Amino acid sequence: MTGVPLDRTEARARNGELSITLLGATGSIGSSTLDLVRKNRDRFRVEAVTAQRNATALGQLAREVGARVAVIGDEACYDELRDALGNSGIEAAAGEGALVEAAGRPAEWVMAAITGAAGLRPTMTALERGATVALANKECLVCAGTLFMRRAHEVGATVLPVDSEHNAIFQALSAGRRDEVSRIVLTASGGPFRTHSLEQMRKVTLEQALRHPNWSMGAKITIDSATMMNKGLELIEAHHLFGFGSEQIDIIVHPQSVVHGMVEYRDGSLIAQLGPPDMRVPIAHCLAWPERMPGAARLDFAQMANLTFEAPDPVRFPALALARHALQTGRGVPTVLNAANEVAVHEFINRRLGFAGIAALVDATIDAAEGRGIMREPESVDDAISVDHISRSLARTLLPEIAVKAL
Ligand code: NAD
Ligand code: MG
Repeated sequence: MTGVPLDRTEARARNGELSITLLGATGSIGSSTLDLVRKNRDRFRVEAVTAQRNATALGQLAREVGARVAVIGDEACYDELRDALGNSGIEAAAGEGALVEAAGRPAEWVMAAITGAAGLRPTMTALERGATVALANKECLVCAGTLFMRRAHEVGATVLPVDSEHNAIFQALSAGRRDEVSRIVLTASGGPFRTHSLEQMRKVTLEQALRHPNWSMGAKITIDSATMMNKGLELIEAHHLFGFGSEQIDIIVHPQSVVHGMVEYRDGSLIAQLGPPDMRVPIAHCLAWPERMPGAARLDFAQMANLTFEAPDPVRFPALALARHALQTGRGVPTVLNAANEVAVHEFINRRLGFAGIAALVDATIDAAEGRGIMREPESVDDAISVDHISRSLARTLLPEIAVKAL
């Protein structure tokens, strides 16, 4: 045991209420999780909730669900959190170390929904003490996937995939044995620029990139969806979660986001999971695992005209090939890819880099890192964070040149 469970029989049966911690409670995934918790109050007890800066919102939701502790990452927001908690008796804490301590508190189930590699240390802390980790934070697996899954197996921690495509594949995998799978298929919406020409894509604005056609999500993943780097990160995520090689993981564009993922068995059978584009569906699956609980959304067939599929275009979406290269090369390349992408998206959001510059900066950073030999496989969290930091400063050094070229 365990990692991603092979089937339900591997899971511990539930008895009574489940204690849960929400890392990244104020975000899009955090809010969807809280919505389900509110609707199923008797099933859950909230241990800790965390956020980075939105202290008032964190304090309010902590009071509402009766959390034992609320932790804000940014120390400057501590007083605001204290004010928001008032005389509720809820413990307050602030700072990076306090986030890690929150993850270490004894909740049986932890939602890992911090954005980016910043989530690695808290998520690993929850994993190391054997908690069931509901993993939304894909960057954490791209940054240190081999280490993360190895430790899950060593300590016997269960990892439940929250990402809709991976949750779909997790569910479809129970239809057969792993050695009978010929391939797994991740679907991609194609984002807001699916039908844009290369010329049009050079001119897209931040506002256009933030307008996702199907999903409402945090800014980082919304931009990742527009470049399709999100699907690239998910390719690497799928490899670590399920253990399939790059050649067994396909990506197909499916603009309606109804079929989330598919597993093809060697007899030609294709098992798909369908659902509305609403993260509360996969989150409910993880919250109730190994059982099922009432959800908050369902698919309306009458509203659906058709389901279409098309191959992704590698020319307009170079991020896909960069991620596949990172997965196939292995070692520290995925760590560099993730770090450079986080810098690039941040710079795009701050309007210091054009849209085409995002993939260009990731590409240039990987090239430079390969040239400097900083490509070792991370052996520990400290190691992963150190490769991440080196890659970020490399990306920042390359930024001015790429920003000019990619205009
Ligand atoms: P979001 O930006 O809406 O929320 C992020 C949360 O993490 C917030 O609570 C924020 O306060 C906290 N946070 C941000 N930076 C932090 C830091 N440096 N330290 C500590 N806390 C920090 O993001 P989201 O859309 O909810 O996504 C969260 C994660 O889930 C991402 O890794 C994303 O890729 C993944 N995911 C999201 C969706 C979705 O539909 N939103 C779907 C699949 C996967
Ligand atoms: Mg996804």
